[in-house]
Amino acid sequence: MKAVRFHEYGGVEVLKYEDAPDPQIEGNEVLLKVKACALNHVDLWLRKGTTGWKLPMPHIVGSDISGEVAAVGGLVHRVKVGDRVLLSPGISCGQCEQCFKGLDSACRSYTLFGAMVDGGYAEYVKSPEMNAIPIPGDLSFDEAAAVPLVSVTAWHMLMTRAQLRPGEDVLVIAAGSGVGSAAIQIAKLMAARVIAVAGADAKLEKARALGADEVINHRRQSIAKEVKQLTGGRGVDVVLDHVGTAVWEDCFESLATYGRFVTCGVTSGHEAKLNLQALFGRQRTVMGSFMGGKGELMEVLKFIGRRKVRAVIDSAFPLSEAAAAQKKMEDRDLFGKILLHP
Ligand SMILES: [Zn+2]
Repeated sequence: MKAVRFHEYGGVEVLKYEDAPDPQIEGNEVLLKVKACALNHVDLWLRKGTTGWKLPMPHIVGSDISGEVAAVGGLVHRVKVGDRVLLSPGISCGQCEQCFKGLDSACRSYTLFGAMVDGGYAEYVKSPEMNAIPIPGDLSFDEAAAVPLVSVTAWHMLMTRAQLRPGEDVLVIAAGSGVGSAAIQIAKLMAARVIAVAGADAKLEKARALGADEVINHRRQSIAKEVKQLTGGRGVDVVLDHVGTAVWEDCFESLATYGRFVTCGVTSGHEAKLNLQALFGRQRTVMGSFMGGKGELMEVLKFIGRRKVRAVIDSAFPLSEAAAAQKKMEDRDLFGKILLHP
């Protein structure tokens, strides 16, 4: 099959469109003919070798995958050849205490498609049957590939970790990202008031179209000052971030008493200075979040199937142009998801 692989860590130039062996399935696995694969920031970190994971080389990344089932192993019963499926991006053992609790991403053997196993930058990918989920409603393959990782991440952050309540105020940093655009829509399901932050007016307009009530352009406005003004000095109940250092002080200052800061990434850096007095005095919470469980993905997919939460697609590239697609993501020249088509 054709695939995009890298044989060593490095810049986009290490991505090679080349022949690779067809995946061989085990009894409990399915073989998927990939129709679409969405990019995620983790693809870039994996390619650069900054995740701490020692990847098998040569390696195929790609965590968000939709396609048609081309073959099934002898122990597979639920999934049939020809089924239209999307893959739950997280792979866990399915039989430890954390997995039984639905805390897949806390499983000690947790990994992602494209991390310790090959991913979707290829014509074919293999998957445990457990990860193959029927595409809900009349979603296209493109829409189905665009939603899993970011929607389960945003759902876990807002609903499970931050315990968002109806009508609360939510500040969404990096509204143009995949997680940001999913978070805006999930927060609106809860009738929250959403304040979206981005660095370009065109992105803020799109954030409004997704349901954001207020917008802040961080290039010419102070996030914390604007939040104070928009909330009558109170601050927001929840801040959702994955930018890190560059926005940390603004985020923390924007929190109301009992406010919850939840982060799933550090694209600008991981160092932060924390004022413990403001933490305890205002009874605030700072929490981390990483991916989410299959059960949570199925919860959010109900809304995606009914188009109450929509896939946000920036652009699509042929698989052979994966390097150009990753460059576009690196340049932050996007709103929503970038797709690859084998
Ligand atoms: Zn487990």
